[in-house]
Amino acid sequence: MESNFRKDISNPDRFVVTMELVPGEQSRGRSVDTVMRIAEDALRDGRISAVSITDNPGGHPSLSPDVLGSEIVSRGMDVIVHFTCRDQNRVGLESRALQLGHLSIRNILALTGDFAGKGFAGQGAPVFDLDSVSLLSMLRMMNEGTLARGDREDFFAGCAFSPFKRTEEESFCQYFKLFKKVGAGASFAITQVGYDARKFHEALCVQRDWGMQIPTLGSVYLLTPKVAGVMCEGRIPGVVVTKRLLGTVQEEWEDRDRGKAALIDRSARLAVILRGLGYRGVHFGGVHRDFGVLSAVLDRMEEIKHRWREYLPDFDFPQKNGFYLYHRDPDNGLSAGEIIPCRSRASHADRVVFQAYRAIHRTFFNHDAPFASIYSSLCQRLEKRPLASLLVRTVEDVSKKFLFSCQECGDCGIQHLAFFCPESQCPKHTRNGPCGGSRNGMCEVHPERRCVWFRAYRRWASVNQPERIKEEYVPPRRWELNRTSSWINFHLGRDHQGEELFKKSK
Ligand code: SF4
Repeated sequence: MESNFRKDISNPDRFVVTMELVPGEQSRGRSVDTVMRIAEDALRDGRISAVSITDNPGGHPSLSPDVLGSEIVSRGMDVIVHFTCRDQNRVGLESRALQLGHLSIRNILALTGDFAGKGFAGQGAPVFDLDSVSLLSMLRMMNEGTLARGDREDFFAGCAFSPFKRTEEESFCQYFKLFKKVGAGASFAITQVGYDARKFHEALCVQRDWGMQIPTLGSVYLLTPKVAGVMCEGRIPGVVVTKRLLGTVQEEWEDRDRGKAALIDRSARLAVILRGLGYRGVHFGGVHRDFGVLSAVLDRMEEIKHRWREYLPDFDFPQKNGFYLYHRDPDNGLSAGEIIPCRSRASHADRVVFQAYRAIHRTFFNHDAPFASIYSSLCQRLEKRPLASLLVRTVEDVSKKFLFSCQECGDCGIQHLAFFCPESQCPKHTRNGPCGGSRNGMCEVHPERRCVWFRAYRRWASVNQPERIKEEYVPPRRWELNRTSSWINFHLGRDHQGEELFKKSK
């Protein structure tokens, strides 16, 4: 018996079931045996299309999903490998993709990834040379044969997104980025974990209204009180469990048998709701010891699959002052009508600053500006005079350091981020939208700071252009320009805006 995720998810009549497995920090022994046993049991069961394997979850070292995936694939169970941008630069990522191709692993979940965690002698260096949108572009180009020098690859790449953000800024930004991921080549999507049926429905409504054709799996986590507590505290980036839900789960588990029965029932109910709403499948998490509980959930789903509407009130766990993109349908509590126009605005002072930056940028850094050819020939002359060139760099460095905490990358991307610097203001250097880890508008890595995309959204919304974040694909920075003048690089067409890669990836 063999499973085939790509075939199953491409079949609109099939409701796909996948599950997530988490490798341990061992190369052999109990954690490896457990993962292999669960995968084999799932294969025997016959209802699972693929197991997904996490990539150093939480940023901590664990057994490579590629190695484990290869072993599982060889036994007949299809695999989705999580592929994050945290630990390797673009060379390492491309090499890893070639390795996966060689191992006959085609299904890839392309993720920006959690921030770096602890390994040997302390915290690891966060790389984030690419973000998830660039990674998807890279995989697509490997498939097209426009990047690799060898044969075309045959990756089936997907992405993740979170429908469960509390604020308008984060909610829209998640969907803007999803839109770009689809444009960059994502063939399937998996949601983050949450327990709000209206939010799950909202995600499908946005996909419909923005013309995103992407089969989507909704995530369902087998929720125990311990994990629910961790999720409720926000310790797993992007996952939402409200205090009310935590209280319900804790109360159910006062009696262990009752708790287990409630876990099975809740998971099955949410899964059949996803099916009823139009999700292409369900992605289960929280399968750690054996396949038995998930098997019971699947049995229960079969019994109750036609009653999903009855269960909608069981998944009414809104966040306090939570934003929704659609009005609430009074009949069923789901989304209704059209997308609500954005209301968020930057402060008056910030709007003035933003407008000033835009005016300066339009005048001096625009290839279509009236004086563009003059700037270009000026830069060519400056380049030939080392002292003049050094003077330009000094003026540029001092002013940009003061205004934008510039990191002298030489390939400036502030204009794409409403004049915030992705190098200094985002610990993951995202250039195409936020990671999934922001919480209540604050950064996953520095919770005392606003997520830079939250601030960028407000600026763009203030000039009624929030969709700029959705429309613009921003390629990765060009490292060969590091510590050179981004002003000169721009006018001589050397940076990402004059780059051939940019045109190909659009
Ligand atoms: S600034 Fe936003 S996108 Fe960047 S790491 Fe923090 S939460 Fe993620």
